[in-house]
Amino acid sequence: MRDWLHEHPHPTGRELAEAGYVAPHWATPYGLDADPLTQLMIDEELRRSGVRRPINPIGIGWAGPTLMHAGTEEQKERWLWPLLSGEEFWCQLFSEPGAGSDLASLTTRAERDGDQWVVNGQKVWTSYAHIARWGILLARTDPTATKHMGISYFVCPMDAPGIEIRPLIDMTGEHAFNEVFLSDVRIPGDHLIGPEHAGWELAKVTLGNERVSLSGEGALWGMGPTAEDLVDLIRGAGGAPDPFTRDRLVDVWIEAQILRVLRLRMVSAVLAGRAPGGEASVRKAIADAHGQHIMDLARDFAGPHAMLSGTGPVGGWGRSGASPSDPTWSRGFLFSPALTVGGGTAEVQRNIVAEKVLGLPRDP
Ligand SMILES: Cc1cc2nc3c(=O)[nH]c(=O)nc-3n(C[C@H](O)[C@H](O)[C@H](O)COP(=O)(O)OP(=O)(O)OC[C@H]3O[C@@H](n4cnc5c(N)ncnc54)[C@H](O)[C@@H]3O)c2cc1C
Repeated sequence: MRDWLHEHPHPTGRELAEAGYVAPHWATPYGLDADPLTQLMIDEELRRSGVRRPINPIGIGWAGPTLMHAGTEEQKERWLWPLLSGEEFWCQLFSEPGAGSDLASLTTRAERDGDQWVVNGQKVWTSYAHIARWGILLARTDPTATKHMGISYFVCPMDAPGIEIRPLIDMTGEHAFNEVFLSDVRIPGDHLIGPEHAGWELAKVTLGNERVSLSGEGALWGMGPTAEDLVDLIRGAGGAPDPFTRDRLVDVWIEAQILRVLRLRMVSAVLAGRAPGGEASVRKAIADAHGQHIMDLARDFAGPHAMLSGTGPVGGWGRSGASPSDPTWSRGFLFSPALTVGGGTAEVQRNIVAEKVLGLPRDP
């Protein structure tokens, strides 16, 4: 790999994809069938060379693994290369106004018409719909079946006639997610993934990957500053002003250590050939609240400066000498309430842990 990086010091997304370095754990030819140890080494070599993978979080994190799981060879060949290279961006058309946590209540309909599907309905909170080329779409194909049984899983071209995308501006002032209205949208028959009416099983594959993807070390779903960055920030500013702030800082640091150990536990479970099971949900439940604790403390520590909001670029925090009024921290604080909502709410994660890990009775 070092030789390859020597020959390709500034690889394009396509070159990284074709070398298998974007998702090395995927099966060949899209990945390298890499075991967890090899994956860690590849990550380290990329970091060492300052090479970044293409950005396509929903594509690489969620749509791709589902296509790997259930797509036909033609579907994989069509969609996975530009997905891995970042040439085609993806979004996720799952949530609806009446179907969030209870996703299986979704009412968007897809009806067969010859060799096409005709889709009508509304989606909401669709991150990146306005810049995506493709969307993974859940729609009801059999309204007479019980609610989990009549759903199918599609790939929707986001430029199809009948799709209207309306921006939703969130509390940070940014336009990340959208409402998406689908009126008589025609989707080619071969854009159905897996068997008809079997979409719920595939949705579970997507959501399982979502919980893993959102579990890096940064405070904001694995991105952004860490507890250690906050400790550095406060230390750099002359230390905690009072014992109460110091206590909170130590608590946040302890949480970060617990999360680090949970992460190692997940890695060693995979190394030992065991599925990570409920750990991903346990970790997400703790990590989301942890992100909010970091951001709350950063805001309190900044004092009146925290009232100065900005929309500076993400990055530049932590060790690079950011100040408490750095706009990236205020953006992080404004974004942090979303952590316990998106990708499964805090309550839903607890339900999963209760049922899958602790064996408690099912949520009524
Ligand atoms: C930043 C962000 C990005 C997002 N991006 C996308 C995207 O790209 N695509 C997409 O499809 N969706 C996206 N979502 C939507 C997200 O998946 C939903 O917000 C989430 O599933 C919760 O659904 P809801 O908002 O309808 O809340 P609801 O399900 O209505 O929940 C409301 C409240 O009721 C509680 N509750 C619900 N059911 C139970 C239960 N059984 N037990 C206990 N408490 C319960 C919840 O915990 C919550 O507090 C995004 C959300 C956020 C915040």
